[in-house]
Amino acid sequence: MLKLYNTSTREKEEFVPLEPGRVRVYSCGPTVHDYAHIGNFRAFLLADLLKRYLRFCGMEVFHVMNITDIDDKILRRVNAGGRSLGEFTQQYAEVFFADLKLLNIIPAEVYPRATDHIPEMVGLISRLLERGLAYQREGSVYFSISRFPEYGRFARLDTSGMRDGISVDSDEYDKDHIRDFALWKAWVESDGEVGWEAPFGRGRPGWHLECSCMSMKYLGETFDIHTGGVDLIFPHHQNEIAQSEGATGKPFVRYWVHNEFVNLNAEKMSKSQGNIYRLQDIGSSADDIRAYRYLVVTSHHRTVLNFTPETLESSKTALRRLTQLRQRLAQIDQDLPGGDWEDQVGRALADFRAHMDDDLNTPRAIASVFGLVNQAEKALNQGLLGRGGARAVLGFLEQIDQVLGIFYQVEGAQTRPAELPAELERLLRERQEARLAKNWKMSDELRAQLAAAGVVVKDTKEGYEWSWA
Ligand code: AMP
Ligand code: ZN
Repeated sequence: MLKLYNTSTREKEEFVPLEPGRVRVYSCGPTVHDYAHIGNFRAFLLADLLKRYLRFCGMEVFHVMNITDIDDKILRRVNAGGRSLGEFTQQYAEVFFADLKLLNIIPAEVYPRATDHIPEMVGLISRLLERGLAYQREGSVYFSISRFPEYGRFARLDTSGMRDGISVDSDEYDKDHIRDFALWKAWVESDGEVGWEAPFGRGRPGWHLECSCMSMKYLGETFDIHTGGVDLIFPHHQNEIAQSEGATGKPFVRYWVHNEFVNLNAEKMSKSQGNIYRLQDIGSSADDIRAYRYLVVTSHHRTVLNFTPETLESSKTALRRLTQLRQRLAQIDQDLPGGDWEDQVGRALADFRAHMDDDLNTPRAIASVFGLVNQAEKALNQGLLGRGGARAVLGFLEQIDQVLGIFYQVEGAQTRPAELPAELERLLRERQEARLAKNWKMSDELRAQLAAAGVVVKDTKEGYEWSWA
């Protein structure tokens, strides 16, 4: 039974969807004011891992991820650059979707954009006004947190010193600035052409409102899981709860799942420090990108991930080892007696599941995978693994890959495939046969042919390893 750490209760809880077998998930998506960085992708990879595991457990998942295409930051940059809002955000949205593909992230069912949902947002604000939870001031509308007694419980805030009617206009603020926040921001001259007509006057929606509105539109007033990074717990998610529950009187989200940050060389990634990495910055090859996916999905989402070139390198090594094992297993066509692999595979899979059930504990789950990998490599090196065993281990790797999504071809990168094309594979095998037959001339010739195709071969005690030059 899957347990998830629920930020709402600060406890691990058994996960039971509202509707048996169907899970409704919402993830705060990218704010398309710039390119997404590798930290952002940790948030999207957590949603992907969670979805994949829920599906692996036999559940259907309906996933919604919003695109924030209007907020303070976007508006500032649009007005500085002289381009239309649509043109400005589209360039980043396109790159975002391409990057999702590079990381083998399963697309959401819906990617709603804030600017396509203005009437729904106006409707939600009107409901809050009717219920006396919001007030208008100079063309803006604010949420009155003193009218919503549960405000602050989710983010564990002390609201005792709050005074009525003090508001904050910025979407982003910290715990020292707990204030009534903006649901609708009145148009000001510097907004230029950006603005929508509403009963409360021309303006634009606040960031927090976008997510309340779009999640409830596509998933219902109460849904199962909401994901995002820990920086969103306050104020964003606290405000989403206030707006949604304030308007409907129903519980909004049943399980809140948050990911910790990616730090860069032990420092918080931030634009001001100039240490933002995009996916393309961490390496030039498909292997680098796959390794980033591997690194993130095999790190526990609730611990800070310190990204360094070395961590990426060790992920690459681990992936290479798994890939090479798969290739060696696929080549086994001999039946051998003995060695009950079904049993060992069954145990490894049960372990893998037990760790994933424990709040998606992927570091332990991958350790179970490597337990079996060690055994398989040992048996292979001793010539003790026959066709049946090889199939069983390969089947296991296919199964865990449904969850981890690590064996894939990175399309669209200026890269080389992770798996060797069949022709080069044949050259490798022929070279190995030549070596075993002590035909050094032939083996050298084949090595040269492989080198010309960009493949480096290293001979090891157990046989050989290859890598791209
Ligand atoms: P944004 O595009 O800024 O709205 O952020 C998109 C997602 O990335 C949110 O869920 C953030 O919480 C998350 N996020 C932002 N920075 C990081 C980081 N350094 N590490 C992990 N997640 C992050
Ligand atoms: Zn959000």
